[in-house]
Amino acid sequence: MRYISTRGQAPSLGFADVLLTGLASDGGLYVPESLPAFSQDEIQAMASMSYAELAHRVILPFVEADVTSAELKVMVDETYAGFSHHAVAPLVQLDRNEWVLELFHGPTLAFKDFALQLLGRLMDHVLSKRNKKLVIMGATSGDTGSAAIEGCRHSEHVQLFILHPHERVSEVQRRQMTTLIGDNIHNIAVTGNFDDCQQMVKQSFADQSFLAGGQLGAVNSINWARIMAQIVYYFYAAVAVGGPQRPVSFSVPTGNFGDIYAGYLAQQMGLPIKQLVVATNANDILHRCISANHYVKNDLVKTLSPSMDIMVSSNFERLLFDLYDRNGEELAALIADLNSGKAESLATTRWQQARTIFASHKVDDDLTCEVIKQVAEEHNYLLDPHSAIGVEAGRACNEHPEVPMITLATAHPVKFPEAVIKAGQDGPQLPRHLSDLLERPEDYAVLPNDLAAVQDYIAKHSH
Ligand SMILES: *Cc1c(COP(=O)(O)O)cnc(C)c1O
Repeated sequence: MRYISTRGQAPSLGFADVLLTGLASDGGLYVPESLPAFSQDEIQAMASMSYAELAHRVILPFVEADVTSAELKVMVDETYAGFSHHAVAPLVQLDRNEWVLELFHGPTLAFKDFALQLLGRLMDHVLSKRNKKLVIMGATSGDTGSAAIEGCRHSEHVQLFILHPHERVSEVQRRQMTTLIGDNIHNIAVTGNFDDCQQMVKQSFADQSFLAGGQLGAVNSINWARIMAQIVYYFYAAVAVGGPQRPVSFSVPTGNFGDIYAGYLAQQMGLPIKQLVVATNANDILHRCISANHYVKNDLVKTLSPSMDIMVSSNFERLLFDLYDRNGEELAALIADLNSGKAESLATTRWQQARTIFASHKVDDDLTCEVIKQVAEEHNYLLDPHSAIGVEAGRACNEHPEVPMITLATAHPVKFPEAVIKAGQDGPQLPRHLSDLLERPEDYAVLPNDLAAVQDYIAKHSH
């Protein structure tokens, strides 16, 4: 399988190169040239598979030029054996046709472990075959950082630099990153917001000269391999509630649009999905775009669901690529116009096409807490704030009450005690493997919101 850039100017690459590259040289994102498709019978057969078996089935077509079936099997087996629930991604029923897919049983308690635990292994595999080393730079609003560090900390081929916005991630989130101490792990707190961090990462990819010949890799969801690994649980959940005979809908707490884009791909690969609901917090550019064709950056709002606090969603470009008939040149011009403010909307027909695929809803902090409280009291189930936004959006957008609506529970509530306590619930306990987290020593550097300072630090420490 080959991968092409959404902006049409970069060379096409194979899986291993896409894995190590991150952003394409023309500033675009890599997507598969064509998608594998599964017949309804093939999807039916997934119902009897374990999570790891299903992951192997779904992922193999994307990687088989660089990873053998047997090698992939070892990697997915190891990856998902490290999850603390035997079902890996258990489904919990809240009500008739209302379900929650728990994606927080990995080592760092958020769905990002599903992809990053595998990504670390895939990178190590490819790098050791090529006898190469890689400097990885990533920005995190909280959950990516710890998941990436957990995924890469045993890698002998990777130096990992994670930027987080100083004093803008929760204490648990920060400590999940900064207490993982290792020679190849470098935590950087930038005195800016998440978009500042993300901007620095983007600029560093665009001009890698500060690395003096080194190569920069990505762990953010611009990395195709992350999206790929996330396609799996849409199939897993759908067949668990009666798919493919019975269509299902998904509501997805959305920030960078990586997770829900994986759901869109599952649909493109043959999974009968009725509705895909984009659930946002007050940072609602995607909701404004999908509901009203109004795509304008607003100032960042700090919310109780910080992992969705973003001004723009990088992976939306991957969807736009399809909406614009995969015309890279046209898309590059559109992105430039949207970024500069010259354009504030999509072409009407393209937007209407998006509306046939996605619904959207925005949930503010007050309502988020109300939902946590209501679900705790009526269903005896504690949601984290991101997942609560998903549940509420799923309810608000549901046009097919006869179809199961599955909300992706993207994080464990213990990661976001502020919202849980505001909702009048007892703060949950940390699971056993993290019980002494608040006592562990931390290691991180605080750097100014300045690209040169950050790049200088990375150059000095990426020996
Ligand atoms: C990263 C994250 C999200 C947003 O996912 P995207 O793929 O960026 O849309 C939602 N909830 C939680 C808890 C997260 O960590």
